[in-house]
Amino acid sequence: MDNLAFNLRIQKAKESRINEVDFSNLQFGKIFSDHMFVCHYTDGMWQQPEIKPYSAITLEPSASVFHYGQAIFEGMKAYKDDAGDIFLFRPQENYKRMNKSAVRLAIPEFPESWFDQGLRALLKIDSEWIQKGFGNSLYIRPFMISTTSGIKASPATDYMFIIITSPVQAYHSGDVKVKIADYYSRAANGGFGAAKAAGNYAGQFYPTQLAIEEGYQQVIWTDDATHEFLEEAGMMNLFFRINDVLMTCPASERILDGVTRKSVLTIAEKMGIKTEVRPVRVKELIEAAENGTLQEIFGSGTAAVISPISGFGYKDKKYTFIPPADLYASKIKEAILNIQYNKVEDPFGWRVKVD
Ligand SMILES: *Cc1c(COP(=O)(O)O)cnc(C)c1O
Repeated sequence: MDNLAFNLRIQKAKESRINEVDFSNLQFGKIFSDHMFVCHYTDGMWQQPEIKPYSAITLEPSASVFHYGQAIFEGMKAYKDDAGDIFLFRPQENYKRMNKSAVRLAIPEFPESWFDQGLRALLKIDSEWIQKGFGNSLYIRPFMISTTSGIKASPATDYMFIIITSPVQAYHSGDVKVKIADYYSRAANGGFGAAKAAGNYAGQFYPTQLAIEEGYQQVIWTDDATHEFLEEAGMMNLFFRINDVLMTCPASERILDGVTRKSVLTIAEKMGIKTEVRPVRVKELIEAAENGTLQEIFGSGTAAVISPISGFGYKDKKYTFIPPADLYASKIKEAILNIQYNKVEDPFGWRVKVD
């Protein structure tokens, strides 16, 4: 499949919308660049891919995705350095993960080389939408949906792979407090928590709303069987610093294998920070908060790189802690941003130039 010739059709927008955009005042994911990449799957194969103006798509009301939710996505970013060169961060990880999600949702895999070539072509056409400056980037949202008409509950025979992009600024999450789940679950053993599948997020909205009503911003999910182990938050993996050890739970079939998570672990180890990848108990976190050994909690994900968490709630109790001056979160975030924006050498080979 990967050997198929990539023959891209390009239809350019008559006029760019870029002059209507206030790049100094962007809301996350509200504005989209001039073009999108689209490829249809039909008759058992991916058809000729194209880049065309960002526009609505038309599907029948009976289209499979509306009823049975064969829908998956990815999240990546493109960065520009001061010289105007464009970079991606570990894009192969996203190509692979998209196809892992596809397999789990019975969606046909999309050739990685097509993904790469299509994305590069799209970034070149919309390169002006990637603004220079630390913190500015173009958020990339690839996704796949089933489009076959008819409400038979079986895998569709037709799909679309689409990439849209949205300019974003540095993401400041503000003061984040999280509620530890003691009843609801995001994913279960044998389920599809490890896939970036639309349904995983729909299922989180209601419990998250309940947490917001209680004064929290997000939910920390725990394992569905016992609710004793800390897993992840909405679109972030989690890290806990207790007694100067940075810990995160292992990726599993319930937990998304985050690219940022992997990068945080590698960077932390390089900095000489002691790391532990092992199941972390809710009880352990509460004890650490009570005896003063809890120093930091943060989430990791493409959108914000790292989001510090200032406190958590469990059942009816609220816990806070006093973070040290020398935050792992800040050091590690800066190290990752410096690689992404081509400010330092990249000893890991993570930065990929788009030319
Ligand atoms: C996308 C996502 C993450 C973070 O993954 P990155 O590759 O670091 O962006 C973590 N958890 C969930 C549930 C996610 O959807």
